[in-house]
Amino acid sequence: MTIAQTHHYTGLRGRLAHDAPLAKYTSWRAGGTADTLYVPADRDDLARFVAQLPADEPLLALGLGSNTLVRDGGIRGTVVVMHNPGAAAVVADGLIYADAGLACPKLARFAANHGCAEAEFLAGIPGTVGGALAMNAGCYGGETWNYVVRAEVLRRDGTFEVRTPADYVIGYRSVKRAPTLAAKESEAAELFTAAWFRFPAGDADRARDRIRELLARRILAQPLDLPNAGSVFRNPPNDHAARLIEACGLKGHAIGGTRVSEKHANFIVNPRGHAKAADIEALIKFVRETVRAKTGVELEQEVRIVGQA
Ligand SMILES: Cc1cc2nc3c(=O)[nH]c(=O)nc-3n(C[C@H](O)[C@H](O)[C@H](O)COP(=O)(O)OP(=O)(O)OC[C@H]3O[C@@H](n4cnc5c(N)ncnc54)[C@H](O)[C@@H]3O)c2cc1C
Repeated sequence: MTIAQTHHYTGLRGRLAHDAPLAKYTSWRAGGTADTLYVPADRDDLARFVAQLPADEPLLALGLGSNTLVRDGGIRGTVVVMHNPGAAAVVADGLIYADAGLACPKLARFAANHGCAEAEFLAGIPGTVGGALAMNAGCYGGETWNYVVRAEVLRRDGTFEVRTPADYVIGYRSVKRAPTLAAKESEAAELFTAAWFRFPAGDADRARDRIRELLARRILAQPLDLPNAGSVFRNPPNDHAARLIEACGLKGHAIGGTRVSEKHANFIVNPRGHAKAADIEALIKFVRETVRAKTGVELEQEVRIVGQA
């Protein structure tokens, strides 16, 4: 038993579990257990939980787990599930405020219904707002941080801070603390708990049509009927990872219960939902090595791999 497992928490309203299977919290539907899992009731409940965590307890946030592979040995530490089906967006001072636990497609629809343009790309990202902030998720030319005015974070001591884009170095699928922020704050990871977005004014009907159009394109291009985690690799400059993987003849290549999607070569699918995380990781490695050997291009992983083998 770890200290966090035997720790006595007070005043919590969420759900606490130990040795909790994480497969159902990830879109790949694979992987091991978390020593401790907490599903907070809301933002304040999360803060109360985090404030009581032993300071040296490893802490990992999971949104909808749509960009995360949890290894079969699981997570030695605590996982907080940030996705909250009750999470909301509201209009405040001309900005859209969204909880980190809100699913991105809901934010896209909320923005469209409120006459905003350019939020449509979020409809195709099956993660949370918090995950989109952590990843700078994007597609079809849109990127999350292009529209963030402020973000709220929860620190390990259980207090909230408001950050601005200037506090981060933001790149393609990458968000790191700016040196000024890193110097001021402890090393411990902060959790995104909310953000305020500014989208340009647009037309609600046009935005809703665009969402439908984007989703139809995705259904045609991506294996959405099978467990997957979206694009496994970042696109290299001026090229597409999927093009390189397909050119190497890897579509359909299988290891254990998992294979490279025939529909989209940068997706790895877990068709029967029985694959080991180790098979997925082995296939990622095989694809990377094959592409390197045949094309000289070093593919960089976009999905995050966590936990013990
Ligand atoms: C079918 C499919 C299509 C996809 N298409 C796209 C796409 O077009 N563009 C794109 O960018 N991505 C895409 N993805 C990948 C994925 O949806 C995004 O990366 C998304 O932003 C991940 O959100 P999540 O909540 O699921 O994050 P998770 O996978 O749960 O977490 C991802 C990372 O963010 C961290 N994190 C999560 N929440 C928080 C938080 N609140 N505070 C701090 N850190 C946090 C986690 O610790 C982890 O390191 C796709 C995935 C799938 C399955």
